[in-house]
Amino acid sequence: MSALELAQSLIKIKSVSPNDEGCFDLIEAQLIPLGFAIERVPELNCETLLAKFGDSGKVFCFLGHTDIVPSGPEEEWTSPPFEANIIDGELIGRGAADMKGSVAVFIESLKKFLKEYPKPNFQIWIMLTSNEEGEPEDGKIDTLINSLTAQKNFIDYCLVGEASSSQSVGDVLRVGRRGSLSGNLKLIGKQGHVAYPQKVLSPILEAGPIINELKNTVWDKGNKFFDPTSFQISNIESGTGATNVVPGNLTMLFNFRFSPESTAESLQERFVNILKKSKCEFEIDWTLSANPYLTKKTDFLSMIQTALKKINGEEAEVNNGGGTSDGRWVSPSGSEVIELGPINKTIHQIDERISLEDLEKLQEIYQQILIEINNLIH
Ligand SMILES: [Zn+2]
Repeated sequence: MSALELAQSLIKIKSVSPNDEGCFDLIEAQLIPLGFAIERVPELNCETLLAKFGDSGKVFCFLGHTDIVPSGPEEEWTSPPFEANIIDGELIGRGAADMKGSVAVFIESLKKFLKEYPKPNFQIWIMLTSNEEGEPEDGKIDTLINSLTAQKNFIDYCLVGEASSSQSVGDVLRVGRRGSLSGNLKLIGKQGHVAYPQKVLSPILEAGPIINELKNTVWDKGNKFFDPTSFQISNIESGTGATNVVPGNLTMLFNFRFSPESTAESLQERFVNILKKSKCEFEIDWTLSANPYLTKKTDFLSMIQTALKKINGEEAEVNNGGGTSDGRWVSPSGSEVIELGPINKTIHQIDERISLEDLEKLQEIYQQILIEINNLIH
């Protein structure tokens, strides 16, 4: 099966998170003939597939996912989202760029690489989840990661095939991601008649200076690889609907996207200190969705940049923007984690697509990365 055929077959499977719906079976059928040993590790409501080739040397792992976000209204698509049609040289369908295309071309790269180098001097793993996009309650790759960590079975080089590129394939890669910390604040005042200000405590008026201070606080300055930590409020609710009643409560949902110059604990503490300036009592429910990570070692980065120079004629820009990714699970054990994949312009959108030219280019880049690892490590 060619990379394009595999990408099309995967797109035809409606594998909305956390359901794999048979994508793993298709992928296994490609990997077993190449000599990979396959494990399926159960997570809460999903599975992680781990395929391994070789048993000595450094461990290189391709990390990816087979799940997709919902298509949205199918009638708005130029071509149905689960038909994987090719229109004007572009493969259209949910998951084309995020990231069934990457998975398919990586497998093609492996086939070509192993033909040329049947006994590579490093181990090759492929780790795939069916719940990258979905809710943490359905499970992530943490059961597998924890068991690998317990066995001191570490990944040296981790390539995440997420859509990192901006204008052309390989123009941008990521060596880290920001953290995400959310909170649900309840500000507790005292309800009463608007005509008796001395008898009420308005959580809305108390929220004013707090929000102002939160907006103006410099949480950190970021660093060479990260923008400064940012704070945003996504929802505020208060009020009874009546004009003559001061409400007793206000709720506010907020989020920090934070650089490694801050920690979840330091942000929580500073947030609480600002809240304490209000006369209101308060309660906060915190959710830490992801800690930031940054790969500081540069061996793998230089191998990838060398590969990009050979295929694209230039190195990629290093940029750590965007949401969070599963790279965060692998990074804490000291792995070098790098994200490099398709152009991210259409991901999660109606008419998600990848050009056939880009699929080809990405396949060449992944293959060259495997060659560089084989040349450079012993
Ligand atoms: Zn993705």
